[in-house]
Amino acid sequence: MSDTKYVFVTGGVTSSLGKGIISASLAKLLQARGYKVTIQKLDPYLNVDPGTLNPYEHGECYVTVDGAETDLDLGHYERFLNVHTSQANNVTTGRIYQNVINKERRGDYLGKTVQIIPHITDEIKRNIKILGTKHNFDVVITEIGGTVGDIESLPYIEAVRQMKWELEPNQAIVIHLTLVPYLKASGELKTKPTQHSVKALLETGVQPDVIVLRTEKELNQDIRKKVALFCNVDIKSVIQSIDVSTIYEVPVKMQEEGLDETVMKKLNLPIDNKPELKEWKTFLDKLKNAKEVVNIGLVGKYVELADAYKSIIEALTHAATYNDRKLKLHLIHSEQINHKTVDEKLSGLDGILVAPGFGHRGIEGKLTAVKYARENKIPFLGICLGMQCAVIEFARNVLGYQEANSTEMELHTPYPVIDLMEDQKNVTDMGGTMRLGAYECKIKKGTKAYEAYNKDLVEERHRHRYEFNNEYLPAYEKAGMIASGHNPETGLVEIMEIPEHPWFVGVQFHPEYSSTVLNPHPVFLSFVKAAIKNKKE
Ligand code: GLN
Repeated sequence: MSDTKYVFVTGGVTSSLGKGIISASLAKLLQARGYKVTIQKLDPYLNVDPGTLNPYEHGECYVTVDGAETDLDLGHYERFLNVHTSQANNVTTGRIYQNVINKERRGDYLGKTVQIIPHITDEIKRNIKILGTKHNFDVVITEIGGTVGDIESLPYIEAVRQMKWELEPNQAIVIHLTLVPYLKASGELKTKPTQHSVKALLETGVQPDVIVLRTEKELNQDIRKKVALFCNVDIKSVIQSIDVSTIYEVPVKMQEEGLDETVMKKLNLPIDNKPELKEWKTFLDKLKNAKEVVNIGLVGKYVELADAYKSIIEALTHAATYNDRKLKLHLIHSEQINHKTVDEKLSGLDGILVAPGFGHRGIEGKLTAVKYARENKIPFLGICLGMQCAVIEFARNVLGYQEANSTEMELHTPYPVIDLMEDQKNVTDMGGTMRLGAYECKIKKGTKAYEAYNKDLVEERHRHRYEFNNEYLPAYEKAGMIASGHNPETGLVEIMEIPEHPWFVGVQFHPEYSSTVLNPHPVFLSFVKAAIKNKKE
């Protein structure tokens, strides 16, 4: 048995309390004391992964270097820890059942009746422990999606109960995150929902070791004592998580509350040094104290749910902060942009970003936004579908191919400037079959892309089926839009830019997935820098 320590994070009362941020913050504090930590998310839904989910359902789909399509919380884990995650860090009920059913079909269960306990719970435990045994982490933090009491999360909670029982006493603990609502009318903070939620957890045989309370008002000693008493924990294990203006402040708040020391004591980890958070705090100071604003327009079709663009928004925040600016983000619905409204919607922006996406809804609005940025010399960043739109717009309005399109939007277009990749042509299953994960990109010297990266060769993450059609490249380059990055193996175009424009760059990959607090992404840094310059001028 490895001596990896396991921390489980469950949630109660309501969803969206920020288990992901609490998990990432605790991980950050442990990492800052020198431990090798990873975070895992177990999602109780039946999709095998979130790749087939509409962003309105669960927000963005985050892509790891190894090409896994995962929950957006993994983005927080990477942004906080500055360490790559992989497929092993996100497991859904769909994947658990798929594995168990495959084993059953293979005959691995030797004639046994296959049941939720032990077979599903064993598969869950195997997926948790693998991070400790195979990947050698000192601490594995496993976040259980959903809320305690949900039918769907029962097998996970049962797996947690079993693991706590099987492992050494100081090897596994449970942190339960709940809400202490504030009733304005009576001016009171209420602990009853927490009591009920801990009771629900106790009914499944799990005693939480630490209670983290989300609250909008400071919790006094009486409230903390009350929660400690009703939930069978010592008062030091009642941790307040007060609302803050930025998620990046949460690790600092958690340290002030002693969450890391409480957890370390319970896990029998020596507390002989202080966490090293200097760089993190420098970033936080910059973020909170930036006065001057940079206005960035994000044009997309899922803007009603900002979580659909989580990584892009965070990457812009990192880039603005390192440029000593406060990000003022303008979410603009692509379906509301047309030649009549475009000026009213986009004028005054310092930079325009056209977002990734699938399908034809909102495409014409995106093309109009690209045209506006190109003609008015506003710094422009197109990501994935945003890059493809830049290519289509250039074909229509500069090359004069009026019916140019992507074959995703118009199968029989006479000018398929964006077309299906060769190896996508026979794909029938939609799940997990895109061009996914990290690929190399060779950068051309003397371009905006090179200026950003200052490197010949980079690796970036992908998630798409269509690509630039290289047949048209000579026409583009002649007319002033060049390929400044390509895949060295396949020759696929990865970056298109217009050298004559102050800053006009389209990337086929997703730079937003790899921007972290301590490692902001060079393409975002350059884009925001150009936007600031544009504002001044
Ligand atoms: N729909 C486009 C493709 O599949 C772009 C995908 C994206 O923006 N992530 O190629």
